[in-house]
Amino acid sequence: MKLLLAFLLLAGTLTRAAEPPVYWLLWFDTEDYVEPASDDAALRLAQDLTQRGIRATFKIVGEKARVLEQRKRTDVLRALAAHDIGYHSNYHSIHPTPAEYLAPMGMLDGAAEFARREEQGLRDLQRIFGVTPSCYGQPGNSWAPQANLTLRQWGVPVYMDDGSHVAFDQQPFWYGGMLYVFNLGPHTMRTGLDNPAGLDTAKRSFDAAVAALRQRGGGVAQTYYHPTEFVTTEFWDGVNFRHGANPERSSWRMPRRRTAESSEQAYRLFLAFVDHVRQTPGVRIVTARDIPQFFEPRDSAAPPAAARRLAESIDAHDGHSAAELLLTLLGLPAQYVDGPLRRVDSNYAAAEIPRAAWVRAVADAADFVRQTHRLPDSVAIGSQRLSLPDFAATLAGVEPGAPVARVRRGRLDQEKRIGSNAAKLYDWVIHPAGFAPEGLMELARLQAWTLKPARLR
Ligand SMILES: [Zn+2]
Repeated sequence: MKLLLAFLLLAGTLTRAAEPPVYWLLWFDTEDYVEPASDDAALRLAQDLTQRGIRATFKIVGEKARVLEQRKRTDVLRALAAHDIGYHSNYHSIHPTPAEYLAPMGMLDGAAEFARREEQGLRDLQRIFGVTPSCYGQPGNSWAPQANLTLRQWGVPVYMDDGSHVAFDQQPFWYGGMLYVFNLGPHTMRTGLDNPAGLDTAKRSFDAAVAALRQRGGGVAQTYYHPTEFVTTEFWDGVNFRHGANPERSSWRMPRRRTAESSEQAYRLFLAFVDHVRQTPGVRIVTARDIPQFFEPRDSAAPPAAARRLAESIDAHDGHSAAELLLTLLGLPAQYVDGPLRRVDSNYAAAEIPRAAWVRAVADAADFVRQTHRLPDSVAIGSQRLSLPDFAATLAGVEPGAPVARVRRGRLDQEKRIGSNAAKLYDWVIHPAGFAPEGLMELARLQAWTLKPARLR
């Protein structure tokens, strides 16, 4: 009997140990450099969480960090430093925002411009906090694909935010060489700060997300706030930089404040929600700095069978990006490469390519990737060319040793994972009315070659 009991206990422990992992990220966009009360809100949140043994990720705006220094708020800086530090742009809402200045640019000039405008904030965070930020997330929905190149160069490995510009099955994914915690759908949840009746609903939606994630073998949920929300009833930037307005600093207005009771209620509701998460068995509270270690490494060699699926569908297959699948077909080692810079159509006229010309084209494409670390826009067949999708589909479908390569048209299924309505994607009170940077979304679609799900270890 005793033995049976011991066995049952052991079995119970093993079952629990094998339960799929659920990770919860709590992050704060720490950005309000207008209203000084938001400094106190950041202090209080950081301290309350530290007291509970919880580390959150504070994504901090460069100007906010500098303002905290100028206001001599070493208490706030010290409290924040106990948590993980992410980056949230240099000025956030002073125009031009990242999407505004990157809208007319391509990938490479855009990446250089992002570095030129945003690097100072990154350096200030490094100087003030002594660490390189663990992640970046765009101000508002001012997302742009060029940022990925710069962030990689800076050694910032994680993109953590919310938006609808790109997605993969409502869980973290790889895109542009970055680990994206983004667009998690129902796995992003929070409790409102104004209505105590909403707390139970928020707890239930957290429980439902945890159950759903366990069902699919584990995953990531997230909750985010802004410290300023705990002390104001309107956003600091909405009152100053609305729809393209760009007033001088001397004429900035203060956002409306919460009453003291309203603030206390907000902290209470927030902490009650956090305590619910904390007491949920099997949920691990992690930061952006922790999160990469829970996933398989970014680059992996794709098996040939998966690579051949590009013939029918240009998309991630078997957990490999279309770019990785193409590298396998080209005989190149596993590595990260960017997508093409622009969309170029095929103008190759015939239905078949003679073997010698085809072999030359494949060698030329492989050489381009080796030298530039990105995919070519198109591949030359003598004086004509195949678009990248048509080249990939043709390569995936060609029979080994065949006397000719039969041209196939690539079907770009991966572009369905990129948001399509720019006006809606960039609808933010700070952007000018009607702001719809179609060019950024076109670049985003081109980089869909790099998109694949992030797989838990
Ligand atoms: Zn923000």
